[in-house]
Amino acid sequence: METLHITETFVSIQGEGLAAGLPCFFIRLSGCNLRCTYCDTRYAYTPGRKVSGKELIDFWKASGIKLVQITGGEPLIQPAVYRLMSGLLKQGARVLLETNGSMSLKRVPFKVIKIVDRKTPGSGMAGSWFPLNMRYINHNDQLKYVLTSEDDFRWAVREVEELDLCSFTQVLFSPAANFMSPERLAELMLKARLPVRLQLQLHKILWGDEQGI
Ligand code: SF4
Repeated sequence: METLHITETFVSIQGEGLAAGLPCFFIRLSGCNLRCTYCDTRYAYTPGRKVSGKELIDFWKASGIKLVQITGGEPLIQPAVYRLMSGLLKQGARVLLETNGSMSLKRVPFKVIKIVDRKTPGSGMAGSWFPLNMRYINHNDQLKYVLTSEDDFRWAVREVEELDLCSFTQVLFSPAANFMSPERLAELMLKARLPVRLQLQLHKILWGDEQGI
C-alpha cells in the first residue's frame, strides 16, 4: 500500500457530527489546499511524516476502536487515501471522512460516511466548492456549515432552502470559535425553524485545544 503524509494519529471522543460522543481513532493527514480564516489546524499544513497505508491500518487495529475518522488538513489531496479508505473498510472499520468540499467526492467509497464542509463567505474560501459535489452526498453523510457571523447564517439558510438540502442529507450548523457565540447561533436557528442540527465541538468542551489521548 502507498505511503501517506500524516500529521498525527490519536484516540479521542468524536467531538462533531452524528457520531459525536463515541470513542474514535483519528488519522490526520498532512497538507491543505485552503486557508480558512478560522482554521485551528494550521499545524497540519506542513508535510508531516511518511507512513504506509498498511501501518496506519495496523495502528487503527491496535486501538481496538471500530470508528475511525480520516481528517486533515484536506485528506483528498493525497491520492493514496482511496486505498486507505478501502483497506479500512475491508478490515471492518466504520470510516468517517472529513473533507473541505473543494475536492471531488466521486471516488470516495459509498460505505464511507462523508462529513463535508460547505465553506461560507466568512471562511474566505466560499469559492472553493467543487460544483458537482452535491450529487455525491446522501442521507448517511453530513454537510457542515461553520458560521462566522449572522451574514454567514443567512447565506447558509438561503442555500439550505434553495437546494432543499435537508431532503437528501444531514445538515449541521456550527459556530466558528471566537467568531460567533453558540447561544446566538442557537437563537437564530430556533427562529429559522429548519431541520438543521446545531453542532458544538464536544472535544473542546472536554479538553480545550488538547485533542484527547
Ligand atoms: S480546510 Fe480545514 S484544515 Fe484547511 S484551512 Fe480550512 S479549516 Fe484549515
